[in-house]
Amino acid sequence: VADKDEAQGLKNIRDFLKVRTGYDVFPLSFRLIVLDTDLLINKSLNIMIQNSIVSAPLWDSHTSRFAGLLTATDYMNVIQYYCQFPEEMSKLDQFRLSSLRDIEKAIGAVPIETVSVNPLLPLYEACKGMLKTRARRIPLVDKDDETGKEWVVSVITQYRILKFIAVNNEHNTVLLKRTVRELNLGTYTNVATAQMTSPVLDVIQMMVHRNISCVPIIDKDNRLLNVFEAVDIIPCIKGGVYEELAGSVGDALLRRPEDSPGIYTCSEHDRLGAIFDTVRKSRVHRLVVVDDENKLKGIVSLSDILAYVLLSPVD
Ligand code: ADP
Repeated sequence: VADKDEAQGLKNIRDFLKVRTGYDVFPLSFRLIVLDTDLLINKSLNIMIQNSIVSAPLWDSHTSRFAGLLTATDYMNVIQYYCQFPEEMSKLDQFRLSSLRDIEKAIGAVPIETVSVNPLLPLYEACKGMLKTRARRIPLVDKDDETGKEWVVSVITQYRILKFIAVNNEHNTVLLKRTVRELNLGTYTNVATAQMTSPVLDVIQMMVHRNISCVPIIDKDNRLLNVFEAVDIIPCIKGGVYEELAGSVGDALLRRPEDSPGIYTCSEHDRLGAIFDTVRKSRVHRLVVVDDENKLKGIVSLSDILAYVLLSPVD
């Protein structure tokens, strides 16, 4: 980092994260839905939809232990399994959440590490752990020293951390004056894209193979129309009916809940400080980089921003 102000801003944000813990990120009162691993996968889908959540910690009641995090990626793996082993389709509605790891193995998916962090640890460490494992969210699991029993306190997401930084560091984020292009922030080559008419199944396969959670949807002139996200799969397989996946991305996007946060874009000339302003005000899960004609240039994920803020060398 060349600029003195920029370096100072980054340093201050890191110092801030070193003196805050996982507990600081949460409001005084919040709800947490934990699912038992004996639950049927299809039932879990309905619970997610009814409660407007897109992930939940899993609990193994046989061992009384935390058993990882259920996310949209797990449902993508189930879909992938159904594509690879169509003869198993009849068994699909008997699968329980405890089968997810076997499904993952059967399709050769990269296992998602079930890392968790203690909520008393500095946020800085929690974030570094998150970046290392490429996890987009990390469960905070505390342990009773006397009984050794664990309990899941909450789940921390990249979004929550960036929001927490943005809200509490306005004086520091204004110092981040270098632009997206100057920082080479995000991905600009080999961006995975699809069209409105692309089959949803193809897009899911693309996301599984490339381990990404979103695909920009463009028209034939490379203009950005929308973004298909991993969470968009959940309403498509509601009730355990997988037939709707035969449809197009355009159809799938029509099933999005009305309160979806929407798509955020930025230009290569935007400063990182301005991106933090957007994060402060809105529910941003990624930014699509477009030019003046709304043509797709690249993508800036929350992990790209977090990696720059936490790991870029300052001096
Ligand atoms: P996301 O949640 O948006 O998938 P990730 O944190 O998984 O983001 O992104 C991992 C890396 O992949 C990031 O460096 C990001 O820039 C890149 N990436 C995200 N989406 C795409 C895409 N559609 N095509 C190519 N690269 C992508």
